[in-house]
Amino acid sequence: MGLDLAAIHALLPSGEPAFRARQIHGAVYAGRASGWDDLTALPKALRTDLAARIAFGLPEVSTVYVSGDGTHRYLLGLGDGRTVETVFMPEENRDTICISSQVGCPVDCRFCLTAQMGLERSLTAGEIVGQVMLLARLHGLDPAGRQLNVVMMGQGEPLLNLPNVVRATRLLVAGLGMSERRITVSTSGIIPRIAELGAEPVRPKLAISLNASSEEQRREVMPLTRKYHLKDLIEACRVYPLRPWEKLTFEYVLLGGVNDADADARRVVTLLSRVNAKVNLIALNPGPGIPYETPAAERTASFQSIVAAAMPCFVRRPRGLDIHAACGQLKRMEAAPLIQFTNLSHQPDSPRTPSH
Ligand code: SAH
Ligand code: SF4
Repeated sequence: MGLDLAAIHALLPSGEPAFRARQIHGAVYAGRASGWDDLTALPKALRTDLAARIAFGLPEVSTVYVSGDGTHRYLLGLGDGRTVETVFMPEENRDTICISSQVGCPVDCRFCLTAQMGLERSLTAGEIVGQVMLLARLHGLDPAGRQLNVVMMGQGEPLLNLPNVVRATRLLVAGLGMSERRITVSTSGIIPRIAELGAEPVRPKLAISLNASSEEQRREVMPLTRKYHLKDLIEACRVYPLRPWEKLTFEYVLLGGVNDADADARRVVTLLSRVNAKVNLIALNPGPGIPYETPAAERTASFQSIVAAAMPCFVRRPRGLDIHAACGQLKRMEAAPLIQFTNLSHQPDSPRTPSH
C-alpha cells in the first residue's frame, strides 16, 4: 500500500510481463483490494510469492466509536502496533473522511488534545492513503464519485511529513481517481513547506490554521510557531500559487475571551485583505487539560458577521463531539460508543451508513 507504479514494478520477479505492475496498481487502488487474495487476475504462483514476501499494508480497524450524529471515529492499527485515528462524517449530499498524517503531533498548540501526545512518528504514504481505502471499503464509498471529500486534518502536522503527504495525494488522484479539488490539507503554518507544496504539480487545496489576530496572540496559543512569524505566514499565503478555481481557507479556533472579540475579527479582515481567502470559524471543542473555554454563541455570530462582510466566512459545525471525534479532540480517548467493534480487521463490505 502506498507504492507507485515504478515501485510495484521493482518488486516483481524478473521475467514478469510489463503490464503486471499496471494490473496490480489498478487492482490495489482503483479496485480497492483489501489483501493479496483479492488480486484474482494474477497467476496463483505470483500471488503466493508476493504474499510471502510483502505485507499488503492496509491499516486494520482496532475500535470504532459511532456518534449520535452519524460520525464514526476509527482507531486504526498500523504495522508496528501503533494506532492512529481517522474520522468518517456522513452528510446528506456528501461524505467527508478526515485522515491523519502523523501519530500524534510535534506542534504544541495549547487548545489541541493531539498536542498532548507529542509526536510518535510520521505516517508512510501507504498509511495515509490506506485510511481512505479502508474507510471507502467499510462505508461503500466511491472515491472517484463527486460526493467524497478527504481532509488531512486528523492527527499530525501534514507539512512536517510533506513527501509522504504528496505521495499519498498522487495516489488518491492517479490511483483512486479522486479530484484534487476534493482533497484539503491543513497546516499550522510551516512557512518553508508552504512554497514547496505550491510547487507540486498534483496537490490538495490548502487550509491555514490562523487561530489568532496578532503576532503576540498567536505566539501565546501556538508556541511552536514562534519561529514562523505571522507577517511572514501571511506573505507566504499572498504569493501562494492558487489555481483559478481555488481560494485559501483560513481556520480560526475561537477561544472564549482570548481571540473572539470584535476587534480580533476586524484585525483578521485586515490581515487577510490582500489574500484570496475564505475563513472557517471553529468554536473551541473543549477537553481535559485545555486551558480555554468555548466562546459564547453571541461572540461566534458577531465575529462571523464582521468577517463575512469582507470575505466568505463560515462556522464549522462540530461533528462527533460525544465520541471525541471533533477538531482538536483526536487523542485516542476512550468514549462510550454506541457501537464498538474490537479487532475487526476484515469487516465485510457494508452498505452506506444509514443516517442516525
Ligand atoms: N495540524 C494541522 C491539521 C490538524 S488540526 C493544523 O493544525 O492545521 C485541524 C484543525 O483543528 C486546525 O485548524 C486546528 O486549529 C483545529 N483545532 C485544534 N484543536 C481544536 C479544538 N480544541 N477545538 C476546535 N478546533 C481545534
Ligand atoms: Fe498539531 Fe494541528 Fe493540533 Fe496544532 S492544532 S497540535 S498543529 S494537530
